[in-house]
Amino acid sequence: MADTIFGKIVRGEIPADKLHEDEHCIAIRDIHPRAPVHLLVIPKKPIPRLVDAQPEDQALLGHLMLVARQLAEDHGVGNSFRLLVNNGEGAGQTVFHLHLHILGNDKYSEADMAG
Ligand code: 5GP
Repeated sequence: MADTIFGKIVRGEIPADKLHEDEHCIAIRDIHPRAPVHLLVIPKKPIPRLVDAQPEDQALLGHLMLVARQLAEDHGVGNSFRLLVNNGEGAGQTVFHLHLHILGNDKYSEADMAG
């Protein structure tokens, strides 16, 4: 499987300011924020795209959403945020290691995640 920048960050080979880390995932700020709060929740398991997730990943996928909810709350956008997963190049995915975008306080500017 091709390695990605997120794989390197997960493994600590590239330093990153981790907002959250547990057994299953990390969270970091997006380097090019498209919203006032733009965070990424990244599973440690290198699933390339959402469509590559398997039935045994069910609990992991749920965990990512619960971590995202907590992070949104911790960053003051718990009542107003979106979760986004780009799946595949055609949808604007650029890093082929599954991740959830948390976009908070962006109601006045539509985030163009394909751009
Ligand atoms: P995708 O387009 O694959 O859904 O989202 C990838 C996201 O990762 C983009 O929003 C991009 O700005 C962000 N990104 C790419 N490389 C890095 C990096 O090295 N560090 C951080 N924090 N974010 C990155």
